[in-house]
Amino acid sequence: MEVVRSQHAERVRPTGLDPEEAADRLLRDLHSGRSGLTSTEAGRRLLQYGPNALRKRGGRQWPAELGRQFTHPLALLLWLAAGLLLVVGSHVVAAAVLLIIVLNAAFSFVQEVQAGRAVEALAKYLPQRAKVDRDGIVREIDATELVPGDIVLIEEGDRIAADIRLLAGAIEVDLSALTGESVPALRSAAMADVNVPLLSAHDLVFSGTSCTGGQARGVVFATGMMTEIGRIAALSERVKPEPSPLERQVRRVAWLIAAVSVLLALSFIPVATLAAHLTLIDSLVFAAGLLAGMVPEGLLPVITLALAVAVRSLAGRGALVKRLSAVETLGSTDVICTDKTGTLTQNRMTPTAVWTILGRVDIDVDDARTRLSSSPLYDSLARIAARCNNSRLDQESGPVGDPTEVAVLTAARMFGADTDIAHREAHRRWQFHFDPELELMSTVDDRDDGPLILHTKGAPEAVLPRCTTILDAHGRPAPLDGEQRTRTEDAVNAFAAEGLRVLALAQRELSGPPPHRRDDAERDLCLTGLIAMLAPPRPGVADAVARCRAAGIRIIVITGDHPLTAAAIAESVGITGPHPAVVTGEQFDRLGENELAALMRAQPEIIFARATPEAKLHIAEALHRDGHVVAMTGDGVNDAPALHRADIGVAMGLSGTDVAREAATMVLTDDDFSSIVAAVQAGRRIYDNVRKFIVYIFAHATPETVPFLVFALSGGAIPLPLTILQLLAFDVGSETLPALALSREPAEPGIMTRRPRPRDEGVIRRPMLLRAWLFLGLIVTVLQLAGFFYVLHAAGWQPGLPTGPGTPLHHAYQQATTMTFLGMIAGQIGTVFAVRTQHASLREVGVFSNRYLIGAIAAEIALAAVFVYTPALHTLLGTAAPSPGQLALLLPYPIIVWGADELRRYLVRRRDHRGTAVHAGESPSGASQSVGVTSVRPAS
Ligand code: ATP
Repeated sequence: MEVVRSQHAERVRPTGLDPEEAADRLLRDLHSGRSGLTSTEAGRRLLQYGPNALRKRGGRQWPAELGRQFTHPLALLLWLAAGLLLVVGSHVVAAAVLLIIVLNAAFSFVQEVQAGRAVEALAKYLPQRAKVDRDGIVREIDATELVPGDIVLIEEGDRIAADIRLLAGAIEVDLSALTGESVPALRSAAMADVNVPLLSAHDLVFSGTSCTGGQARGVVFATGMMTEIGRIAALSERVKPEPSPLERQVRRVAWLIAAVSVLLALSFIPVATLAAHLTLIDSLVFAAGLLAGMVPEGLLPVITLALAVAVRSLAGRGALVKRLSAVETLGSTDVICTDKTGTLTQNRMTPTAVWTILGRVDIDVDDARTRLSSSPLYDSLARIAARCNNSRLDQESGPVGDPTEVAVLTAARMFGADTDIAHREAHRRWQFHFDPELELMSTVDDRDDGPLILHTKGAPEAVLPRCTTILDAHGRPAPLDGEQRTRTEDAVNAFAAEGLRVLALAQRELSGPPPHRRDDAERDLCLTGLIAMLAPPRPGVADAVARCRAAGIRIIVITGDHPLTAAAIAESVGITGPHPAVVTGEQFDRLGENELAALMRAQPEIIFARATPEAKLHIAEALHRDGHVVAMTGDGVNDAPALHRADIGVAMGLSGTDVAREAATMVLTDDDFSSIVAAVQAGRRIYDNVRKFIVYIFAHATPETVPFLVFALSGGAIPLPLTILQLLAFDVGSETLPALALSREPAEPGIMTRRPRPRDEGVIRRPMLLRAWLFLGLIVTVLQLAGFFYVLHAAGWQPGLPTGPGTPLHHAYQQATTMTFLGMIAGQIGTVFAVRTQHASLREVGVFSNRYLIGAIAAEIALAAVFVYTPALHTLLGTAAPSPGQLALLLPYPIIVWGADELRRYLVRRRDHRGTAVHAGESPSGASQSVGVTSVRPAS
C-alpha cells in the first residue's frame, strides 16, 4: 500500500459500525447498497474520510541521517586525524580536515536523500488498483480512492486494499501480513461469524492481505488508517534497505584502502623523522594529512546514487526495480526464463478458426461481413464459449478480462451467441474456476428449455481424456472412438504448429443437482469443438531476443501452453531454431533434480511447455545451483515462489496479479519482454560506470603519495613537491564531481555483445587496480613531478639547496609546488577521459557525449584557479601563480594521459581480437547429448 501523509484518514471514521452485524444492516449503516455507490457520493465520502492510504510515521528522520554521515567509520578515522592535528597544534591542517569531513557529510547526505527520493518516487509508477462497482459499472480505480460503502470485486491474485465484509462468493486469503500465518485461509460470504475476534471472522477480509484463489464481492467498511493494518503502526514503518553486494564489496575495499593509508601514514613517520630529519610533530602532521587525503570516503554515496539514478531511468523505460541492489544483479543476468503469453506475445488474442466434427472454419474478426452459419452444432459451441466465460465485451472502454476468455467470447459473438453479462450471470448456478494445474474451467448453467448443463473449456489435453462423446452435425452426441480422437488431436496439432492457442469446448447435460466436486462434474463430457486463437508476437521482441543472443544471454521459454504452439512462437521470435527440445509437463514430472540440470546444460535450445508454476521454481533452482543468474517472469499467484527464488523475479505490471508484483524484484509496467533486455543493459552499464569511477578515484593514490615519498626518501634533499594543504585542496576540489559525472556515462559500445559477468566476479579486479595505480597514476605522477622539477631547475635549484621562506628560491619553490598541484589536476582530467571506456576507443562513445563530465571538469578548473589566484590562499596553501609559459606546459598533460591509455586499450583490443580469431577457428560444434527427453518437432 502506498504510504502517504493523510490527515483526513485519522480525523473521521464511520461511527458505530460493527463489521460483524448482518450484511444488510451493515450496508444500511454504511448508507450503501448491493449495487454500490454513485461516483458523486464516492467523491463526497473521499473528502469526508480522506484517501485510503497509510500515513507515514514521523517523516524523514533527517537530523539522524545527517548525523550518521559524521559518525560512519571512515568519518571517524578522519576525526581521529583532525584530533591528532589539533593536539600537535597544527590548527590549519586540522581545520582543513574538518572541512573535508563536513563537505563529505553534506555531499553524502544530499546523495542519499536523492537516492531515497528516487526509490520512493517509484510508487507512483505502480499505484495499487481496486475493482469497484460504481454507478452500476465495474471499473478499476486507484486504491487510494476507495471509500467506506464501496462495493468491491476481489479476484485471485488481488491485493486487498481496504477492510471488507464479503457479500457474495468465497476466496482464499493469505493473511501473513497481518497474522504471520502463511497458510491461506478460507473467507466466505456464506460463513457469517459474530462475536469472534475480527481477524478470525470468516466473512471479513483485511487491507494488506491478498487473495490467492476464488472470487468475491464485498463492501468496504474501513479505509486508510482506520483499517486493521493502519492500526498496527509498526507495519507502516519502512523496512531498512539491506546494503547491496556491490555496496558491501566497495565498503570492504574502502576499508582496505583506509587500512593501507593508515599503515602508509604510520610508516611515513619514521622515514620522515629519520631520513628527512623532520621533527616528530611535523611528521605526524604529514602522516595525518596524507591519511585524510587518501581515505576514499566519497566512494559509497556515489555508488548508492549511481544505482538510484539507474533505477529512476529504468522506471521511465517501463522496468520498475524495487531494490537498488537488483540493478547490479541485472547486469550479470545470463539466463532469462520467460513465459509466453503477454510477454513474448501481445496480451490480446483474436480467434482465428474453429474446428468441429465438420472440419475447420476460419474466422476473421476484422471482417464485419463474417457471419457464421447457425446450426445446432455451432450453437452449442457458441453457448459454451459464452457461458463458460468471465470476460466482458460490452464495456465502453473495450473488452475486460483474461485475453483467452475475451477471444473465446468474441468467437461466441461471431456465432450469434448472447454475450451479455447479465444474461450469463442470471443463468449461472455454479462455477469451477480456471485451474492452471488442471487447465480447465467449467460452469453449471440452467437453460430455458431443459435440465442443467455443464459447460467446460480448457486445454485439449485436459478436456479430451474427459470426453466420451463428440457432438455430431445435428447437435447429437456420437461416440468418440479412437479414430475420431486421432482426428481431433491432428486438428489440435495443426493449429498449434501455426502458433495458435487451442481450447477444447465440451458439455454435459446434468440429470440432478449441480455436483459440488470437480471430479464428479468434469467427466463423461461431450466434445463440441475447438477454438484456435492468435496472440501475435509483440513488436520489438525479435529484436530484443537477438540482442540477448549477442549478449550471451540464454532465453528459456516456460509456458502453460501447448508444446507446438510454444515452439512455433519461440521460433518466430528467434529464441530457438526449428527443432528445439521441448519438455512437456509430464516429461518434466519424471525428471529428477540432476537430470533437469543436465538436460538444461546439454540442450542449448529448450522449451518447457504445459509447465506448472512449480516447474518454474525447480528450473530456477536448478539454474541457480549451476551458477547462473536467472531472471524469471511470472504473473499468477502460484508464480510467487519462483519469482522469489530467481535472482531477478519479473512480474507484469499490466496483466499480472498484485501477489506476483509483490514477490517480484522488478515489475514491467508495460509487460514487454524488451524491457527486461533494456534493464539488463542498464544493469551492465551502471556496473561498468561504478568500475569507471573506482578506477578514477583509485588513480589519485599514486600522485598523492609519491611526492611525499620522494621528499622523505631523498632525505630532504628534494623539497616537498606538494604541501599537505595542497593535497587536501585537491581532495576537496577534484575528486567528487567528476566521479559523480562518471555515473552518467553512456553505455560503452559492445556492452551487449560481451558475455555476462560471472556471478562471483568482484567489482574491483586486479587489472583495474594495476591500471589505476601503476599505469594512469604513474603517468600522472611522472608528469606532475616533471613540472615541479622543471620550474625549480629553471630557477637554478640543485638538490640540497634551501627553498624555505626567506631563501632566494622560495618563490620558485612555491610556483613549483603549484605546478605539482595543477599537474595533478591536469593529469586527473586526462584520467577521467581515459576511464570513460574500458575497452573501446573514446571516439566511439563521443568525446563530449557526457555533458555532466564537461561541467564537472569546468568546475574543477575554476576551483583550481581560485586556489592558485586568490592571494589569501597563497599563504595558506603555499601556492604561487605560475607564469604563462609554465602553465602552457600543463596543456598537453590531459592528452598525454588519455592518449597513453587509448594506445593501451588499442593494444588490448588487438590482442583480444587475435585471441577470438584463434578460438573461433577451433570452436567445438556444441553437440548436445540426449538426456532422454524427446524433442518435439513442429509439423511443417
Ligand atoms: P504462458 O505461460 O505462456 O503465459 P499462460 O500463463 O497463459 O501461458 P496458463 O494460463 O497456465 O498459461 O494456461 C495454460 C492452458 O490452459 C492454456 O494453454 C489453455 O489451453 C488453458 N487455458 C488458459 N486460460 C483458460 C481459461 N480461462 N479457461 C480455460 N482454459 C484456459
